[in-house]
Amino acid sequence: MNDLYNYGWNDHLYRQKQDSTFKAFMHGRISLTHKTRYEVIAADGRYTCELSGNMLYGRASAEQPCTGDWVIFQPMDAEKGVILDLLPRQQTLYRLKTGSVSEKQAIAAHVQKAFIVQSLDEHFSIRRMERFVVQVTAEQIEPVLVLTKTDLGFEKDKVEASLEHLSRRMAHFYTSIREPDTIVQLRASILPGESVVFAGMSGVGKSSLINALCGREILATSAISEATGKGRHTTTRREMVLMEGSGVLIDTPGMKLFGVTNDDEDNLSEVFDIRSFEGKCRFRDCQHINEEGCAVIEAVAEGELDRAIYENYLKLRKEARHFSSSVHEKRKREKSFARMVKEVKDLKGHPYKKP
Ligand code: GDP
Ligand code: ZN
Repeated sequence: MNDLYNYGWNDHLYRQKQDSTFKAFMHGRISLTHKTRYEVIAADGRYTCELSGNMLYGRASAEQPCTGDWVIFQPMDAEKGVILDLLPRQQTLYRLKTGSVSEKQAIAAHVQKAFIVQSLDEHFSIRRMERFVVQVTAEQIEPVLVLTKTDLGFEKDKVEASLEHLSRRMAHFYTSIREPDTIVQLRASILPGESVVFAGMSGVGKSSLINALCGREILATSAISEATGKGRHTTTRREMVLMEGSGVLIDTPGMKLFGVTNDDEDNLSEVFDIRSFEGKCRFRDCQHINEEGCAVIEAVAEGELDRAIYENYLKLRKEARHFSSSVHEKRKREKSFARMVKEVKDLKGHPYKKP
């Protein structure tokens, strides 16, 4: 038996279920996505589900179910079922679909917080962290910075200084799986019923952290393959696990770098702290690239704004604009195709144009 309230079920979701044609069926939360199969946690157990025809076709890739989604399904037996509907999402983490410039793919749905995980070793990168923060905050998910592997030794002053523009506005934690106190502190920050997605490149210690937070071995870590020396073991499985009575953790194994999948420029200025300068630019529509009287460029010149931060801001803004123009182009193509189809149909129906 599962108490779905521990998994984040609430009255709001209940009301949304009542709007579905399929409201008479059971509901549950997807805990694992594996190609065309989904593991669904329901009140009376776990089901392996497939999608109904309606769910499978006629849905953009962004609207395909993902881990963390609440679904309505019909059990076929005690272990199998068919997913009939998806409850409306809130706070969902997306990434650019592999090989696409305009399509996004949901990674984790109904998450209130994202732990942006980075290891304090040679892979540490503030620029990557900024990218994750942009993607997460654009979806109104609360970002929390988690800096792992502190036991390897790092220069705290240097790290603190490089994080300052972010840590001013969001919580940050230092952790090591070898120092239980750090795990206890992180655990205390997760509220009951809250869902947390772990975002970060593979190898930064996400699975290890989830295991440590749960106090038991739940996810396979990369340590196994390091023994064989065959590079990193990455699994395509996504897992959602319940912490002892206090929250839901969602791993994103094999995570590649996010492409920006939104064009929220206000959010970008906010994350990069451009906001405090841009109001002072001479031109209202200043792009902060080479304009006269640009307060942002002045701030960079005077060392008030870190050049690397400014450059990453421009880079991600370019990506955001590219994404939104690709989406726009795609819509236009689809529209003109639809128009062409209609014209051909009209032509066929015309009495004088018949061959
Ligand atoms: P994931 O790919 O992000 O899930 O990373 P893993 O949890 O699989 O960890 C990658 C490697 O880093 C493994 O060899 C872990 O043992 C190691 N690791 C994880 N956390 C720590 C830590 O706090 N300290 C140290 N020294 N190693 C860690
Ligand atoms: Zn400007």
